[in-house]
Amino acid sequence: MEHLTNDELIAFVSMDRLDGPSLKLASKVNGHIGSCGSCLERLKAFQLIYDEFTRLGTAGARGRAVYRVVERSGGDGAELEQGSLELDK
Ligand SMILES: [Zn+2]
Repeated sequence: MEHLTNDELIAFVSMDRLDGPSLKLASKVNGHIGSCGSCLERLKAFQLIYDEFTRLGTAGARGRAVYRVVERSGGDGAELEQGSLELDK
């Protein structure tokens, strides 16, 4: 099974309209997390970061945060990813 990429997860949590590509992504993400706890956990992590941006009122400004996602399950072993989440709207 191919896991969702960070880019896909970020696009999903920051989705603000439902057009063709967004619906396709939403369908892919929803279908995958239904059977993959690992990607569901990563999605929750990104959702938390995004909610925090919204709560702080940085929507409308360019926000940037460092995220850290730990893969706790899945056959590929523990994995630490670091990067940045940028919201440009
Ligand atoms: Zn997955």
